[in-house]
Amino acid sequence: MTPQRRTAQKQAVFDALCALDHPSATEVFEYLQGREPAVSRGTVFRALAAFSESGKVKKLRLLGDEAHYDSNTSPHAHARCRLCGRVWDIENVPLPRSLPAGFCPEACEVEVSGVCDACGCGR
Ligand SMILES: [Zn+2]
Ligand SMILES: [Zn+2]
Repeated sequence: MTPQRRTAQKQAVFDALCALDHPSATEVFEYLQGREPAVSRGTVFRALAAFSESGKVKKLRLLGDEAHYDSNTSPHAHARCRLCGRVWDIENVPLPRSLPAGFCPEACEVEVSGVCDACGCGR
């Protein structure tokens, strides 16, 4: 594969990541199947690993699921529907105030699990 081709494929992976909402690597791969069939599953996994290593995307470890990737790298929390798996961004989540003495917080990954409106939470 030429370097240009490789760059184009990485860009396609990034575009898919932005088009989808907090996708897993498998979801990115499935999305690309219909658009860029030349992009292999291995390319998707390698590109996502490189993006998260360089800080271009954030790798999320959500409850009981494979890793998801987020093109929004600013600090924010997530709400996740346990039925359909959809993920929403939650901004401005405060850090917990009951931290150990002398502890310097750098990041706080919060995940709120529940059932979304579409899945019939409806309260
Ligand atoms: Zn749902
Ligand atoms: Zn997010």
